[in-house]
Amino acid sequence: MPYEVKRDFIGYGANPPDPQWPGGARLAVNFVINYEEGSEPSFALGDGMTETGLTEAHGGSQVKSGRDLAAEGMFEYGSRVGFWRLHRLFQERGLPLTIFGCALALEANPAAAAAIRAAGYDICSHGWRWVKHFELSEAEEREHIRKAVESLTRTVGRPDGWYCRYGPSVNTRRLVVEHGGFLYDSDYYGEELPFWVTVEGRPQLVVPYSLTNNDGKYAGWMGTSDQWFSYIRDAFDMLYAEGARTPKMMSVGLHMRLIGHPARAMGLQRLLDYMMQRKDVWIARRVDIAKHWQAVHPHPGKGLNE
Ligand SMILES: [Zn+2]
Repeated sequence: MPYEVKRDFIGYGANPPDPQWPGGARLAVNFVINYEEGSEPSFALGDGMTETGLTEAHGGSQVKSGRDLAAEGMFEYGSRVGFWRLHRLFQERGLPLTIFGCALALEANPAAAAAIRAAGYDICSHGWRWVKHFELSEAEEREHIRKAVESLTRTVGRPDGWYCRYGPSVNTRRLVVEHGGFLYDSDYYGEELPFWVTVEGRPQLVVPYSLTNNDGKYAGWMGTSDQWFSYIRDAFDMLYAEGARTPKMMSVGLHMRLIGHPARAMGLQRLLDYMMQRKDVWIARRVDIAKHWQAVHPHPGKGLNE
């Protein structure tokens, strides 16, 4: 049977498994930097348009035709300035990070790629480019996956996982499994813990991601770092409390061109310090969560999606 993405409205429901996190942690927290700047749609890459997504000028191109130099600069801020501020906040605290890396973006900044390698951050492929995979043909998408892995392996190391911009295509998971070499994908928003699916007879681990616990909320949803801090802190407090009985997982997504700005980075700094004051919190790389799940909760032989 060819793999078909099926909907599942039940999931773990009332009985989520005990993740048995290392050290008996109540909550596993994974911070992600989406490294996208330099791979977005642009005139330089032949797209005939300038991407404005998740910039100060979100909501559409500000020019009718031709390059939007303001938006280009807002993207460049992310890799020139924002990356280094976020990197410093995590390095100063000895905290791990996961990079959702767009391959061409990392090719465009060898210094950042070197810092990522030196820090031991783990890599999840965010595509060869920051494009919408559901707009690619199957052949194009297969080629994007191949090129992403080839490039990332050169710049920052072999990616352990796969995560598309915004939404996958109906083919993505099958093509990721077909390519091979990935421990997990994160193309799902409907669960809070990792789970297994079976893709044409092969087990695939899904480590779900969140656009809710995400600095993308700054793009039109909220304004100040106080608001963002209290919003993410509330998610953390809820999961931490629930985690006393059934331990939980939390992904926090970051973008260099958004939360890398000083005012917003203050909210992140407060969040990191807040979380570090709590006991029994495992702040981990995504690959470590995936490896833990594989070891403690191996594929049961029957997945959700056969
Ligand atoms: Zn992204």
